[in-house]
Amino acid sequence: MIAAVDAGCDTDRSTAASGSISALRRGACPSLTAPMRTGDGLLVRLRPARPGIAPSDWIEIARLAAAHGNGLLEVTARGNLQVRGLTEQSVPKLAAGLAEAGIDLHSGVAVETPALSGIDPGEIADANPPAAAIRAAITACRPPLLLAPKLSIVVNGGGRLDLSAMVADVRLDAVRRDGALFWRLAAGGTLRSARPIAVVADRDAVAAVLAVLEALHGLGPAVRGRDVDVDAVRRQLGSMALPAEAAGATAPPASPIGRRGFGDTEILGLGLAYGQTSAARLEALMRGLQALGATEVRLAPQRALLVLGLAAERIEPAGALAAAEGFWTHADEPGNAIAVCAGAAGCASGHFDTKAAADLLVARGADLLDGSAAVHISGCGKGCAHPSAAALTLVGRADGVALVIGGRAGDATGGVVPADALGTAIDRLTALYRQEKRQGDPARDVLDRIGAAALAKAFQQDLQ
Ligand code: SF4
Repeated sequence: MIAAVDAGCDTDRSTAASGSISALRRGACPSLTAPMRTGDGLLVRLRPARPGIAPSDWIEIARLAAAHGNGLLEVTARGNLQVRGLTEQSVPKLAAGLAEAGIDLHSGVAVETPALSGIDPGEIADANPPAAAIRAAITACRPPLLLAPKLSIVVNGGGRLDLSAMVADVRLDAVRRDGALFWRLAAGGTLRSARPIAVVADRDAVAAVLAVLEALHGLGPAVRGRDVDVDAVRRQLGSMALPAEAAGATAPPASPIGRRGFGDTEILGLGLAYGQTSAARLEALMRGLQALGATEVRLAPQRALLVLGLAAERIEPAGALAAAEGFWTHADEPGNAIAVCAGAAGCASGHFDTKAAADLLVARGADLLDGSAAVHISGCGKGCAHPSAAALTLVGRADGVALVIGGRAGDATGGVVPADALGTAIDRLTALYRQEKRQGDPARDVLDRIGAAALAKAFQQDLQ
């Protein structure tokens, strides 16, 4: 067993590594105890402890969101469930309602696994046992580890919806060597971009993650995985650390949306339009799926839900039902390429209707939306839906809608147009894009070639 670092976790990591799991506390999710303030009230992020949630539990979640929030629910790009529009008085009621319904939640550091872990015939390893052991080991640490509030750990067992492309502070990616299971430990990034630390045997995986967390703890609660001294961690791991090569290129993540064969059965992936739905629509969807025989619905990255348990002949009616409730059923839906916040329709800080703007962009500029360039529509400069830079961002302001090119929602803009002139501004951008596009060019390359100055000029041409 490796030695604990000074002031770090002195829990018995040999127990943690063996897979001993503590019971999770119901309703103890920090998001429920420390909700985030947004323009439309308080937001909580829920991480259900069971990956497969029964339609009846979804109905309960929808009812609670309507009763205690503003009725808007979201699934994030990382596959987290969010309930919006809560108040300080209603958050405890939501927590109590979830506990009463027996919907247990994960709490503490986010430890993320592929959505189909444990049932995916194509996975290298079931990520759930090591993920559970990591959560238990963190909970058992005394004194508690002081880690960045947004720190995330990815345990990627591979498979259909593997998490190679998901950024994490600390990551374990499953590998097989001579038939035996090992995990590649790395810090700060995707499988490709994270700095490799070591390859460790399955039995050492949890202790190895704890060693990285202890190093982060020693550096202070603002430090992220990218800041950790990987050489020092490798030395700390000693003989359990086998050499880890740099990761090669990885395929883009598969879309979870659409009808897919899965072993002997099929799965139906549904996208939430712009990552959001209403409690009423979610409840209607789940009632319909329940009637069609769905046994569970899982959260998935890329703002999606996975419906399991449907007989083959029920998949099509289920897709039609979902489409009628506003869910996307095809992976190539252009709106998938846009990150959209609640906007004026659901948030007091929103300066314009972001969903209507997204529909406008889909209707008039769909060829920009091939997924190669991040496009963001934000009701205000806070940029809740896409905190990092995007190729193009439309931002609501008191004086209209601004265009930010290659930046965050709050960055300097490449011009502003009145909200009622947005359609013609999009038409001009699209015309310029089509003029510059050569066959086969991804949107990202075309936008780079056009350049920020020309894009800004086209956006506000009538106003110059
Ligand atoms: S970015 Fe959107 S959701 Fe966030 S505060 Fe602004 S308008 Fe509200």
